[in-house]
Amino acid sequence: MKAIVFNQHGGPEVLRHTEVAEPSPGPTDVLVRVRACALNHLDIWVRNGLPGVQIPLPHILGSDIAGEVAKVGNQVSRATVGQKVVLAPGLSCNVCDPCLAGLDNLCRRYTIFGYLVDGGCAEYVRAPEVNVLPLPGGLSFEEAAAVPLVFLTAWHMLVTRAQLKAGEKVLILAAGSGIGSAAIQIAKLHGAQVIATAGTDKKLQKAKELGADELINHRKQDIAAEVKQLTGRRGVDVVFEHVGQATWEKSLASLATGGRLVTCGATTGLEAKIDIRRLFSRQWSLLGSYMGTRSELQTVLKLVEQGKLRPVVDRVFPLVEAASAHAYLEQREQFGKVVLKV
Ligand SMILES: [Zn+2]
Repeated sequence: MKAIVFNQHGGPEVLRHTEVAEPSPGPTDVLVRVRACALNHLDIWVRNGLPGVQIPLPHILGSDIAGEVAKVGNQVSRATVGQKVVLAPGLSCNVCDPCLAGLDNLCRRYTIFGYLVDGGCAEYVRAPEVNVLPLPGGLSFEEAAAVPLVFLTAWHMLVTRAQLKAGEKVLILAAGSGIGSAAIQIAKLHGAQVIATAGTDKKLQKAKELGADELINHRKQDIAAEVKQLTGRRGVDVVFEHVGQATWEKSLASLATGGRLVTCGATTGLEAKIDIRRLFSRQWSLLGSYMGTRSELQTVLKLVEQGKLRPVVDRVFPLVEAASAHAYLEQREQFGKVVLKV
């Protein structure tokens, strides 16, 4: 099969379009003919190499996969050949306490397609049957691939971890990112007031079209000062963080007393400082979040099928142009998801 493979870590130029052996499904696996695979910042981290993490090489990236079932193992009971599917991106052991409690993203063996195992930037991918979900009706493969990782992560952050409630104010950073565009919609669906940030007026206009109530251009305006002004100096109930080092200080300065900061990433750097006195005296909660459960993904997919959440696809590249798609994602000019068509 054709696949995008890298043999060494580095920039987009390490990605090669080449021929590799087709994976063979085990008894409880399916083989999926990939039709679309969305990119995430995780792809860039893994391609560059992560300190202390051994990525098996050669490696195939790609966490967000939509396609058709091509083969099924002899113990597969639900998935059928030809079925249009989207894959849950998280892989877990299915037998530990958290897995049995339905909290698969707390499994100690949890990983993601394209991270420690081969992903979907290829014509075929092997997946456990438990990861196979029906493609939401009315969606193209490209749209379906744009859903799982970002909507699941944003849902787990806002709904499960931060417990966002109707009427609360939430600051959503980098609204032009895939996760930001998902978070705006999830926050509005829960009746919250959304303050969104982006680096260009064009992106802010699109954030407004997705439902953002107030907008901050973080290149021209100071995020914390604007938040103070927009909230009568009170601050927001929830900060939706995924930017990291570049915004951390402003994110904390934007929090109301009793506020919650929830974070799933640090695309600009991992170092952060906190004044412990402010943490306790203002009674803040700092919440880490990583992916979400399969059950949460099923909820998200239902809402997508009902049109209450919609994937935002910025641009589609053919698989052979994966390196260009990576370079484009790294420029941060997109609004929403960058997707590879396979
Ligand atoms: Zn487990």
